Amino acid sequence: MPEPESMDAHDLLALDRQHVWHPYGPMPGTDDPLVIESAAGVRLRTAEPVQGHTELVDGMSSWWSAIHGYNHPVLNEAARGQLDRMSHVMFGGLTHEPAVRLAKRLADLAPGDLEHVFLCDSGSVSVEVAAKMCLQYWRSLGRPAKQRLLTWRGGYHGDTWQPMSVCDPDGGMHDLWSGVLPRQVFADEPPAGFDAPLDEAYADHLRELIGRHAEELAAVIVEPVVQGAGGMRFHSPAYLKVLREACDAHDVLLVLDEIATGFGRTGELFAAGHAGVVPDVMCVGKALTGGYLTMAATLCTPRVADGISRGEVPVLAHGPTFMANPLAAAVAGASLDVLLQQDWRQEIKRIEAGLRDGLERARTIPGVRDVRVLGAIGVVQLDHPIDMTAATRAAVGEGVWLRPFRDLIYTMPPYITGDEDIARICAAVCAAAREG
Ligand code: PMP
Repeated sequence: MPEPESMDAHDLLALDRQHVWHPYGPMPGTDDPLVIESAAGVRLRTAEPVQGHTELVDGMSSWWSAIHGYNHPVLNEAARGQLDRMSHVMFGGLTHEPAVRLAKRLADLAPGDLEHVFLCDSGSVSVEVAAKMCLQYWRSLGRPAKQRLLTWRGGYHGDTWQPMSVCDPDGGMHDLWSGVLPRQVFADEPPAGFDAPLDEAYADHLRELIGRHAEELAAVIVEPVVQGAGGMRFHSPAYLKVLREACDAHDVLLVLDEIATGFGRTGELFAAGHAGVVPDVMCVGKALTGGYLTMAATLCTPRVADGISRGEVPVLAHGPTFMANPLAAAVAGASLDVLLQQDWRQEIKRIEAGLRDGLERARTIPGVRDVRVLGAIGVVQLDHPIDMTAATRAAVGEGVWLRPFRDLIYTMPPYITGDEDIARICAAVCAAAREG
């Protein structure tokens, strides 16, 4: 069928359903996604009025990434400037200023001696690379039996193979593949609560499990302080210290997945900063380019890099076509400038206060089990599975874009979201909790 020359929202949706896969969606599609025509600041503009709104305040930062909002002049300029010079070149045998500057920048910002940077194209791939680095490290040192990963339940690390194997194995998104994925070691979920005192019994459980499996463990991998897509749970940073010490005691590497938490979201530049812990390998993504372009990075210490270099195969055999894409690297540099040139800690504190204030009233809504806020993250958990359609519709009715899932209605707004819009987002979360 020839493509119509001009398409209204109705035509687009018909073709979308027929041809386009959406995240975790069926084919042909059954949902009616909203058609977004443009986005600026914290507002998404819809192609047609939706429940009386043509602009929706974005409560999701496009899944943690658009920390500076949309259509940002500095990020736009970085992309334009780089576009005129070079949009992409292969990274094998070639290098360029945006990549080198970004790698140096990340190495300077990262905790401790995480100074070697692998620039890749998505969060999942950065976790794949992290796993590969760790397994290869032990092979290079003549200990090939150390090839499993340990994580705690309730986590999420991406949708490609190795990351799927360390996502929550129960009731998670990747149940379909249990038995096929690499068999990893799972600790219990960390006790809930950022401020909760350290639970010694749980700490012992982590120590015991790491000790018991040390001979086959390449690394422990966890999301520090916030488990995101696995359930939006917060836990005490103290467990990161427990993991660091147990990993050191038993010759196991520590990987921290800061893909969601990195770049200020929890109130520290990286969530590991709450505990002062330095991992051996760290993954970042999402907000790295301010949500503009797809780029992530895996950082490792000289110990890991030198270990790999001493092996029979002394190279890291990974080289994506779009590795270190100059456009993405240039925008990432600009995004870091924008973040660091402002008092971002103060902005996160302001949003945290607004979310605490606005979400407090959700506690009295029937069916609400928990309300929690950390940094620029607000979560309302219900005691039943959400009717996603009804909850989303309720939020959109308030002029806000949210994407509730399972029993969770949550928000992680762009850092530029003003106080009035934070209040509006909170009202929408409450409306979604009532309707969902
Ligand atoms: N790790 C964490 C903690 C994440 O939140 C995500 C994305 N939700 C990923 C890994 C995967 O990143 P991506 O979607 O960019 O592949």
